[in-house]
Amino acid sequence: MPVGRYAPSPTGDLHVGNLRTALVAWLFARSTGSRFLMRIEDLDAVAAKAAYAESQLADLSALGLDWDEPVVHQSGRLDIYAEAVETLRDAGLTYPCYCSRREIREAGAAPNAPLNPDGFYPGTCRGLTATDRRERERDGRTPALRIRAEGRSFSFDDLIAGPYTGTVDDFVIERKSGEPSYNLAVVIDDDAAGVEQVVRGDDLVSSTPRHLLLYELFERTPPSYAHVPLVLNAAGDRLAKRDGAVTLADRAELGEDATQVRSWLARSLGLAGPTETPDVATLLERFDAAELPREPWRLLPADTAAASTG
Ligand SMILES: [Zn+2]
Repeated sequence: MPVGRYAPSPTGDLHVGNLRTALVAWLFARSTGSRFLMRIEDLDAVAAKAAYAESQLADLSALGLDWDEPVVHQSGRLDIYAEAVETLRDAGLTYPCYCSRREIREAGAAPNAPLNPDGFYPGTCRGLTATDRRERERDGRTPALRIRAEGRSFSFDDLIAGPYTGTVDDFVIERKSGEPSYNLAVVIDDDAAGVEQVVRGDDLVSSTPRHLLLYELFERTPPSYAHVPLVLNAAGDRLAKRDGAVTLADRAELGEDATQVRSWLARSLGLAGPTETPDVATLLERFDAAELPREPWRLLPADTAAASTG
């Protein structure tokens, strides 16, 4: 049976952009009778909080989403990621990188040239000799571990965004802290769980070629991908929690329950009329991946106005 999933990071309450992507992922899976898994991406020990994981799951449940057990926590899988890193390192596919974030951002940028905005790594440490490395370690620099991507490109046919091709940089697989990177963990976890359909926000489209490289190196079959256009605030920027009444708790203060929020999300997806509050069974019947909006959902100031406290 096919498998889909949603994988929130427990760093705060989910906002309507997160909830909408979760709803789409659930609709993709359940409309085809697939299993649907939940994975808590709690590798960031500073920002991730168990209480947020619980409130996020409670919010998803309140929207009417359900999932198959068990809920996986990345923090319980560190040995598995370490083993995967070791496999790549033993195969000669990695190298240590001593660059700071700032060095990477500014690398290769001539004066007045645009900085390197996406953190695309220019390969600064790829050719370091053993002596170079010893020197940097003597200076107290701890390396991250990067993959040798050899400048390869990967293409895939996104179920929402259409064909996409991207060149893979030598991305980090193990951070300076020793924790696995997001890009490594997501591939290991989806593969281990048998995930065949990845539905997530389209801010991750450009990372997908990196994931395809890892699937190839591990000789595994990649899933299909559906990247959901983001939700934008009134200023046209990516929605954030500070943008007004955007969480279920915020909406409750406005007197809106989870059913009303779900209906709002359903309208934004073309699955409900202006005054309807369809249940999830109805949404499943109406769902057609080919009909999903291809454009971001733009919120108006009135959409997210918080309750007046005066
Ligand atoms: Zn470097």
